[in-house]
Amino acid sequence: MLQTPLVDLKNLSPAELEAFLTGMGKERFRAGQLLRWLYPRGVTDFAAMTDLAKGFRAELAERAAISFFTPAAEEVSSDGTRKFLFRLQDGQSVETVLIPMDEGRATLCVSTQVGCAMQCAFCLTGTFGLTRNLTAAEIVNQVCAVRTGFPVDNIVLMGMGEPLHNLDNVVRALEILYSESGFDYSSRKITLSTSGLVPEMLELGRRIRVNLAVSLNATTDAVRNELMPVNRRYPLNDLMRACREYPLLPRQRITFEYILIRGVNDSLDDARRLVKLLHGVKAKVNLIPFNEHAGSAFRSPEEAAIETFQRHLLDRNIVAIRRASKGQDISAACGQLKGRLEERRLLTESTSHSS
Ligand code: SAH
Ligand code: SF4
Repeated sequence: MLQTPLVDLKNLSPAELEAFLTGMGKERFRAGQLLRWLYPRGVTDFAAMTDLAKGFRAELAERAAISFFTPAAEEVSSDGTRKFLFRLQDGQSVETVLIPMDEGRATLCVSTQVGCAMQCAFCLTGTFGLTRNLTAAEIVNQVCAVRTGFPVDNIVLMGMGEPLHNLDNVVRALEILYSESGFDYSSRKITLSTSGLVPEMLELGRRIRVNLAVSLNATTDAVRNELMPVNRRYPLNDLMRACREYPLLPRQRITFEYILIRGVNDSLDDARRLVKLLHGVKAKVNLIPFNEHAGSAFRSPEEAAIETFQRHLLDRNIVAIRRASKGQDISAACGQLKGRLEERRLLTESTSHSS
């Protein structure tokens, strides 16, 4: 007899879970019970779900499975940033970074793809291309695994990958993270960062609430085309229009991430153009000095350039926060993910070829 493949319950949005259960002839409210076991309680075995009848548990075990992650490696930075490496079923791997914030709070930086197709010139993740999308379960399991050991107050989809290039699975993962019986995150606690895929930004706004961060990184199309090839498809005008149209809650703003790269985008003229670009947008700016890495000839900006740039924005009443990239010593900082691991793999490959 042909066996139907088991459904991974962590791949189902709360609505899909309800449909799955009603398809089995069960009541809708069973979904809430299951979500409580799967997420806050972190159970990975149907037998442990003691408020479900034994027969129901056995039926579930015949049709469904519960995936989970255990870290294959864990590194801690001198600044407290912690990087987790998770091995996926097909042998690929992803990295997740836990960043300590003020007052004992922590932000988890989650990956949405293995690699990335966007090929930004400054980003190590991008240089290896896209291997594949992560499933919703693989996105959510990064949160599940880290939460077993550490509180996770905020989540940023800013790890490896372009989240809007994997929109369906990302929306599904958000629905799971928001679910009241599940982790019950507020949409204000989760931020999605994009390189600027304009149609998908608009679709995201129609489908679900989430804080939006846009990796801007340049103030002219000429420079942005060089740094971020996505700009050739969706130039600055289109991108900024999509930002103006993005639905925001009261007092909510779009975060613009701006990596300062020496001599490329860190001049006072850039700061002036940035002010103009942001006109009419509810915005705040994160200024991130470029993280130097072996894959790039770009340099970090001079201290004076950072200060002048930030001062120009602040003087024009634009919230501009300087962000130190944390976890540099363990290659956990922005744009460094997957770097070391790939380097190691390439190294082993070249050694095995020459031997
Ligand atoms: N693909 C999405 C989210 C992941 S990238 C995006 O691009 O927004 C997360 C952030 O890391 C982006 O803001 C990107 O601009 C930044 N980044 C990439 N390489 C970097 C580097 N070398 N130094 C500093 N920030 C970098
Ligand atoms: Fe991809 Fe973001 Fe890196 Fe660009 S910055 S290559 S979009 S991960």
